[in-house]
Amino acid sequence: MHYPVAWGLSKLDKRLNLPGLIVGSFIPDIEVPILIIFFNGVLPDHLIMHSLIGALTIGTIISTLITVMVYPILTSLFFSLDKVKIKEVCRLTPALVLSCMLGNVFHILLDIPMHPFNFVLWPLVDPYSIVGILVLVFAVDGNISLGFLIARILNFVFMSLFMFAIIIKSRKNLWEQILIGK
Ligand SMILES: [Zn+2]
Repeated sequence: MHYPVAWGLSKLDKRLNLPGLIVGSFIPDIEVPILIIFFNGVLPDHLIMHSLIGALTIGTIISTLITVMVYPILTSLFFSLDKVKIKEVCRLTPALVLSCMLGNVFHILLDIPMHPFNFVLWPLVDPYSIVGILVLVFAVDGNISLGFLIARILNFVFMSLFMFAIIIKSRKNLWEQILIGK
């Protein structure tokens, strides 16, 4: 659901690196299954990876490593893309690191309106004092769970439409265009 934002950023500034933006835009959510499986009921399902401080440090480092070392292998394996070309695009450069960082930051910014709590300014601001605007708008009779559900559905519908438009626009050389961007 975060891919369209990564794609949009790569179109806004051609110097940005699409693979870095893509990987960066999903990395914050790697903490979600870990927290749910191992810390269910003890810790919330969003934590440091959804904070700006986490995005600018650990999130950017993990994203950069994955983009440079893993992304070329997986995309050439599963989508039959030219490995030499992807490796060239995924070379370690300042633009790639910046793209990974922006991917992480925009993931967190997109999450804010639709989550009932947000670690964005952790540890400076209490995450539970930052309630997503869409959650509040749709919290009928103060039902935050309902607001959260509707906000997520709306985000899903909106991002699916955006994704559909990207696929239509990129239908020639689909995988190359949506995974490498060149
Ligand atoms: Zn997230």
